[in-house]
Amino acid sequence: MGEIVSVLKQRCPRCREGKVFHGLWSMYEKCSVCGLVYQREYGYFYGAMYASYAFGFLTTFYWLPMLLLGVSPIWVIGLPTVQLIVQAPLAFRYSRVIWLHIDHRFDPLPQEPASSTNGAG
Ligand SMILES: [Zn+2]
Repeated sequence: MGEIVSVLKQRCPRCREGKVFHGLWSMYEKCSVCGLVYQREYGYFYGAMYASYAFGFLTTFYWLPMLLLGVSPIWVIGLPTVQLIVQAPLAFRYSRVIWLHIDHRFDPLPQEPASSTNGAG
């Protein structure tokens, strides 16, 4: 399947078959098909925050036309706020999957992850 489809279906960036999530907020540690470890290192998903910010910003940008058209501030603030809360699981999941695919595209791991070298030897 194509990369866009595998992102939409929230699949592994390497084999595009293994699922990334097993619950609303929980990820598998690694791909059940090819064994790719999803979180390469501590803090790996900080990069996903940028995708999440962009997603939230772009999907709620209608607040500006509402403000300019004189809509009540209750709606200008309240509607995007409620929307951000409702779409939080989607933003969480897709920002991580998009980050995984972007990172894998530009810096793919070899088939078998290298054993950790800690300098002892
Ligand atoms: Zn995989």
